[in-house]
This record gives sequence, structure tokens and C-alpha cells, in this order.
Amino acid sequence: VKVNQIEASKDQLRKKYKAANPGTKKMKATFVTLARNNELHDLIRAIRQVEDRFNSKFNYDWVFFNDVPFSDEFIKQTSAMTSGETKYGLIPTEHWSYPDFIDKDKAAKARKKMKDDNIIYGDSESYRHMCRFESGFFWQSELLADYDWYWRVEPGIQIYCDIDYDVFQFMEDNNKVYGFTISIHEFLATIPSLWEHTKKFIEENPQYLHPENFLNFISDDNGDSYNLCHFWSNFEIANLNFWRSEAYRKYFDYLDSTGGFFYERWGDAPIHSIAVSLFAPKDQIHYFDDVGYNHGVYHQCPINADFRQEHKCLCNPDQDFTFRGYSCGNKYYDVMGLAKPDNWEKFT
Ligand code: GDP
Ligand code: MN
Repeated sequence: VKVNQIEASKDQLRKKYKAANPGTKKMKATFVTLARNNELHDLIRAIRQVEDRFNSKFNYDWVFFNDVPFSDEFIKQTSAMTSGETKYGLIPTEHWSYPDFIDKDKAAKARKKMKDDNIIYGDSESYRHMCRFESGFFWQSELLADYDWYWRVEPGIQIYCDIDYDVFQFMEDNNKVYGFTISIHEFLATIPSLWEHTKKFIEENPQYLHPENFLNFISDDNGDSYNLCHFWSNFEIANLNFWRSEAYRKYFDYLDSTGGFFYERWGDAPIHSIAVSLFAPKDQIHYFDDVGYNHGVYHQCPINADFRQEHKCLCNPDQDFTFRGYSCGNKYYDVMGLAKPDNWEKFT
């Protein structure tokens, strides 16, 4: 089947659905996935779940990125699995390579040391390009220029419960900029100097620190040190214009100029989280406690039994990570001043 035939038949379905449901797809929003061709099968399982649980009702578009061209097979299978329009982007070389000022020997030595220290992805070059792309470049892509909102999806993730409202509309109506599901502590060895650089940036640019910031979520000593809490960025529902803002652009450029993506192994998750926690007011950060979610070994499973029943959740609340030791969920509730769900202590 040709891709354009698939697109044509989906277009017909969308028109039919829209006629029956005149308020759908109201937002300038899209899914965003960075993936390799060989992750296709894990990816379409994830897409199918997102479609079944949410997007079959809304038909938002889906933008895919890769550092090498997507295979025909990848394009056909993913466009067949999605209800919205699909777009495929090849990442420009300058967004997935070493900048001139990087000392490649120094970077290689750092990778060797991290490998010897058994740090996860410590010896990987591609992982570093990936983290740098997710921090500084995806939101600059032409393919995203017409959108304000995105939902990041990775291969292999699971969505456990029905989502029966438009999450993008929700974000806009409630004046949110960043939404997360799981929060967790980072490995200090991957970001030894990130916080010192962040403090220096804020000292030089105090105007970007929002008066109603969420510093106390990421620091236990009022900014002296980073407590390693971050929103797990494999799931994000967020506003692209936050990354496009002057504050974030300057912050990214400053971080990039230090070489830390390559001399250390800075993740996009702590960088996104620190930026959102410092530059946005805390009430613009939204915790999607109602989105049942899995990535890797961690799960978010709503612990309220009635909720799980009403939303046909397929997960075990005993696996819910929110209140477990390594999570930052407990801290999120405390710093936000929110009441924790009933019986939360049973899930610690
Ligand atoms: P983890 O979640 O930190 O374990 O990292 P992943 O291996 O899942 O990578 C994060 C995201 O980037 C996933 O969506 C991957 O599919 C994607 N990704 C990672 N490395 C590469 C790469 O070298 N090329 C491409 N195209 N995508 C990548
Ligand atoms: Mn992943």
C-alpha cells in the first residue's frame, strides 16, 4: 500500500469523524517521536496504545525525527498506525554532531572514564547527541513550526488508562506550560557540573528566574545544590514556545558552550526540568496523575481503584512509582502543597 493511499483513506476517516464530532483537533498540537528504524516494532505498539487511549478521538498529527533517513517500512507502518497526519524529519547534521569547539580527545577520555565507572550510556556518543538534540534542537525544527504543543512519545512506552479529554486543550485552558507523569532522581555522575553552570547562568541573568518558580522542587537548600529531581522527559506534554523563549534559548546556548553534553553526559530531562522549574511559575507545571504510563522499569498506575475502573486501566497499582524511594513524587506533592491521594502510604 502506498503511503499517500493510507493518508487519503485516513483523511476520509478524519473528515467523517470530524463531521460527527465538530470540536476535535482544535489545538495546534502534535505528537513528537525521535526513533531509530530498528525501533519500529516497539514504536508502533506504543503508538497503538496512544491512539486507542487518546488520539483516535482527537486525530492529532505525529512528527517523527531520525538522524538517518527513515526506511520505507518505518514510514508505512507508522503512518498506518496513526489517525492524524504524519511528518518525517531528517535531523540536520549540525544538530547531531560535535560543535567545533569540542575537544574530541577530551570527550573520548570522558567516555572511557564513564565506561570504567559503569555509568549508564557513559560510553555512548549517540546518546549524547540524542540528549543534546532533545535539549536544544527538536523545537527549532521547521516541521514543528506550525505547532504550539507537543506530546513526546518513545518506542516501547505504555499508556494504561483511557484519556477522555483533550490534554492539549486542558493545558491551554489552565495556562500550563509543562506536563509530566513520572519524576525521579538523576545519577549525579552524569551531570557533575550542571548545577554550578546553572547557578552561574542565573547569576548573570537574574531576570529569567521567575518569582513564583519551583526551585524548592529541585533544590533542598534553596538553590545551593541540586537535589537531582527531574521530570522524566520520555513523557512530556508541553508548550514549544517555552523552549523557543529567550530565557531557554540562552540557557541552552550557555550550557552547550561549556561542552557538558560531551565532557559529561547531560540528559535532556534534568535540563528541561531545571529550566521549567526556574523560568516558569510553579502553577504552570502540571502533573498528569491521571495518565497511566510505563517506560522501562517504572510505572505510573493511578492508585484510586474507582479511577482505574472508570478509565479501564491495565496496570497494577502496587507497581506505582510515585511514592517510592527513588521517585520525586512525594516531594512534588509537598512542595506544591497538594494533598496526597487517599492511602498513598500503602504505595511507598
Ligand atoms: P533512555 O530512555 O534514556 O533509556 O534512552 P533511549 O534509548 O530510550 O533514547 C531516548 C529516545 O531517543 C528514544 O525515543 C530513542 O528511540 C531515541 N534515540 C536514542 N538514540 C538514538 C539514535 O542514535 N538515533 C535515533 N534516531 N534515535 C535515538
Ligand atoms: Mn527511553
